[in-house]
Amino acid sequence: MKDKDTGISMTRRTLLGAAPFFVAAAGLGAERAGAAEMPLKAANADKFPPLSPFKFSLETSNSRWDGPGGTAREVNTSNFPISKSIAGVSMRLQPGGLRELHWHGIAAEWAYIIDGHVMTTVVSPDGTVEKNEFGPGDTWFFPRGYGHALQGLGPGECHFLLGFDNGDFSEFGTFSITDWISKTPRRIVERNMQLPESVVAGLPKGEAYIVQGKVPNFGEPFRSPNLEPSQLTHKYRLGAVAPRRFSGGEERIVSSKEFPIQSTLSSARMDLEPGSLREMHWHPNSDEWQYYTKGRSRVGIFGAHGRVETAEFGPGDVCFIPQGFGHWIEQLGSAATQLVILFNNPHYEEISLSQWLASNPAALLAQNFGVTEEVIDKLPKAALGIAK
Ligand code: MN
Ligand code: MN
Repeated sequence: MKDKDTGISMTRRTLLGAAPFFVAAAGLGAERAGAAEMPLKAANADKFPPLSPFKFSLETSNSRWDGPGGTAREVNTSNFPISKSIAGVSMRLQPGGLRELHWHGIAAEWAYIIDGHVMTTVVSPDGTVEKNEFGPGDTWFFPRGYGHALQGLGPGECHFLLGFDNGDFSEFGTFSITDWISKTPRRIVERNMQLPESVVAGLPKGEAYIVQGKVPNFGEPFRSPNLEPSQLTHKYRLGAVAPRRFSGGEERIVSSKEFPIQSTLSSARMDLEPGSLREMHWHPNSDEWQYYTKGRSRVGIFGAHGRVETAEFGPGDVCFIPQGFGHWIEQLGSAATQLVILFNNPHYEEISLSQWLASNPAALLAQNFGVTEEVIDKLPKAALGIAK
């Protein structure tokens, strides 16, 4: 059965519906070994809630903000409850479109540029600063609370993905400079900004969020001539990293080892050739949050206690896989698939099925599967990564 909003087949019904069947099967003297345990397992199933939907179509979601200088759509626990550790925003800025000065109280911000060019400024608590220019494939990371602003450089719209290391984060509740200034007593603002009352009276009356400005001159210096550059850069060119090549595609993974300021997340980009399979694997230390930029794929997840779900993903869709859950990605269609991934741990870890199978004696595996050692000999002896 498919849920009409998510397209995800619902395990809830099959799981709850299974209990009477198992009880009946045991009562009839079930033939299969282990069948006697089934009533117990079925009873236990009630203790483990069905898997939550793990697909969200971000680009068609109605959680959106549209303005003259840009647009934003968000996904977080309010519309995608499974995504407790990571929230996301798909933002578009027109040339000159300015995402105003702001900070985030409960989350660090990561970004990946899908299309176009954007400029950022960021100030650190130690007073160091950085201004950068970003193009397709580039990423940034602003630690929690750092003050920053973004402006479209043109030509054309800049489309980028923002990721936040807290699923409860909401882009529409950030700490924006105009929101604060407009809600602060005028006498405080006049003294703090050292402006006359007549000028303060003309400042924005509420949060601007995104305003349509002019295309910036990237070379314009900071107002103060006495600033030091950030010790750690906020920019990393994910798309320019040499990939790990596999027979069916490639993957670029960037942890805090390569990008030290990215201290709460690891990020990746995966390119799957038509017909390929990202092999069955899991991540011992992190959840996985995916955003599809190109092509189609089917993802299967395994949540123990017999619980599995599969769903299909295409451009603009978000997938969330809880820590430790087994999963695989099957590429679909004739156009290659590309996805961008966040892990909520600065150290990347995975264990793949083929690597695990290679890491055991043949006799043990033969007994586990009830097959001969000749069959076991055919199994892969190293990680496949992305298989053809
Ligand atoms: Mn931000
Ligand atoms: Mn994975």
